[in-house]
Amino acid sequence: MRPECLNPLFAAIDSLKGVGPGLARPLERLGLARVRDIAYHMPDRFVSRRAVATLDEGVAGEHIVIALTPREYRSSPGRGPLRVLAEDSAGDICALTWFGRNTGFAKKALPLGEKRWVAGRLDLYGQSRQIVHPDHIAEDSAGALGQLHEAVYPLSEGLTQGRLAALAAQALALLPALPEWIEPALLAREKWPAWREALIAAHQGSDPAARDRIAYDELLANSLALMLVRAAGRARKGSPLRGDGGLRARLKLPFALTGAQARSIAEIEGDLAQSAPMLRLLQGDVGSGKTVVALSAMLVAVEAGAQAALLAPTEILARQHYDTLSRMAAGIGINIALLTGRDKGRGREAILMGLVDGSIDICIGTHAIFQDAVTYKNLALVVIDEQHRFGVSQRLMLTQKGRRAPHCLAMTATPIPRTLTLAQYGEMDVSRLDEMPPGRQPIDTRVVALERIDDVTSALARHIAGADGKGGGQAYWVCPMVRESEVDDIAAAEARHAELSARFGDTVVLVHGQLRPEVKDAAMARFASGAAKLLVATTVIEVGVDVPNATLMVIEQAERFGLAQLHQLRGRVGRGAEKSVCLLLRGGALSETGRERLALMRETQDGFRLAEEDLRLRGGGELLGTRQSGDSPFRVATLEQIGRLLPLAHDDARLLIDRDDGLEGERGGAARILLYLFERDWGVQLLRGG
Ligand code: ADP
Ligand code: MG
Repeated sequence: MRPECLNPLFAAIDSLKGVGPGLARPLERLGLARVRDIAYHMPDRFVSRRAVATLDEGVAGEHIVIALTPREYRSSPGRGPLRVLAEDSAGDICALTWFGRNTGFAKKALPLGEKRWVAGRLDLYGQSRQIVHPDHIAEDSAGALGQLHEAVYPLSEGLTQGRLAALAAQALALLPALPEWIEPALLAREKWPAWREALIAAHQGSDPAARDRIAYDELLANSLALMLVRAAGRARKGSPLRGDGGLRARLKLPFALTGAQARSIAEIEGDLAQSAPMLRLLQGDVGSGKTVVALSAMLVAVEAGAQAALLAPTEILARQHYDTLSRMAAGIGINIALLTGRDKGRGREAILMGLVDGSIDICIGTHAIFQDAVTYKNLALVVIDEQHRFGVSQRLMLTQKGRRAPHCLAMTATPIPRTLTLAQYGEMDVSRLDEMPPGRQPIDTRVVALERIDDVTSALARHIAGADGKGGGQAYWVCPMVRESEVDDIAAAEARHAELSARFGDTVVLVHGQLRPEVKDAAMARFASGAAKLLVATTVIEVGVDVPNATLMVIEQAERFGLAQLHQLRGRVGRGAEKSVCLLLRGGALSETGRERLALMRETQDGFRLAEEDLRLRGGGELLGTRQSGDSPFRVATLEQIGRLLPLAHDDARLLIDRDDGLEGERGGAARILLYLFERDWGVQLLRGG
């Protein structure tokens, strides 16, 4: 149960004054659902304004507060901006400009001839002065002058600064006093304020100590929770698995293992032989050969007389794994089954029986394989593919299956930098496949200006038609996420799809995040089968989808993507014997960072290197919880803070758990509150269950 002192913070956001149904959507888009979320919705920056008597006193670009008298409305017909010409005390004119507003609005807010106090940034537009979207308009000086120093919050459409500031003020007033969970010596050394003071200060000004404390709290909560998971896993007994190598000896692999594969397999074997359940992450780029490592691990379990399960995030991936593993393990005398949510009736019954009686050795599927109705005779190893798609809590649920805790091998094709590996998977041991199988053809990566899109479609036409009697190839076309909302991105992808369909007919399919799963699956299946030649997608292309015949990838406005993301996308091609090409279409003006990103993409295919560079290029100030990298566990800590403060938080968490592993003491109790505050309460649940 959540500690009572936190209840006001976890009240729904509409318990605050002024939150009606109209605000619910815009708030939701920012991920703001409860009072707590508002308190942690930090200002991006602060503006300081100067009160001036006349426009002459203001400098272009400066934020000012000034008294103006509206003289004339100018709104062009159609969708042009609304301009209100207003006069200062010296008779000089300034245009107050709004996009998407009409004179009705002006009549209410700025009646002609009536003096108003206006706060905003003074700009020069040609020879004339203007203030675009003034921040405040008030009838008296107090209304506007009260805002000389003001927070600027990240907004979504339908929200205003004033609204957010008012909500923040209410939320901050509700903050309870909480006991201190940070080590007193650390607190003193860093000169960090207490929790409540830190939050209040962070909304009032750019106080680095306050911001650091808040980020540190989040990092500490994360480290603590991960360590508790780990400790709980250790406390449960697993079954030591020692295979005799019999099955593995019968495998007829068409290749020799890479050094990295052999090393990872040895590490896994070592873990499996222990009675403490394995909790290991296998990190390796797309194509680095994780499947055979997973198979080896599962064969150890089967050799030891137990069962293994492989969990995939989507049905398509489950099917692909089933096909690959069945092929690899053909003739060695084991029974592999596929179980997805789609299996019904007799077929499903037969599989369930096989799992109960132990005649099925390896079960592959989606989360359907862990539903309550599914019972295993002796499940000893769970392999999770594309780990980042599953949260820690799901991981925990999986390992509750079976009388004894199964060993767990998680796999991810997202090479993330070392600091982030610690943050995200701190409770796991890590094996890295940092070496690609030999003979891989590098992907020919080229940067092409967007103006040459006609050449690109011509090349695409040749590619699809095939040359010299060879069958045609397949291709991906990725549309960018550049606009503010997903809806716009989808509209752009749909437009591109329509254009390409006009040229290539119905061999073009479209995939994006708003499609119903059946529709999306059907499109992916058509592409995977080769019936469709071109897949147009937003960045949702299924991680891990394997279509070796797709050897061309086009990425529109590539400079807008992060390196890690570009790398993931490019990894869809280069899977067959044919040489693959990746065309990065770049838009007009390239930023320095954009230029560097594209250059790096041409230069290297090493996912780990690109991940480190990505972190460097994105710079310190950036939050991870953006659309670019949806899988960050952090909301308030920036990259720079993670790098600087995470090691500290990690050590602090370790120390706390070493001293008080049940979190029973005074600081322990405070730490429990912290876990709830950051919704890492699964950590606390483990404590009680354990
Ligand atoms: P991942 O799952 O890591 O993306 P896969 O396991 O699908 O990669 O392997 C990619 C391809 O490389 C497969 O066709 C696989 O058969 C092949 N492969 C794996 N290991 C080796 C190796 N040591 N030498 C040559 N080819 C390999
Ligand atoms: Mg794979």
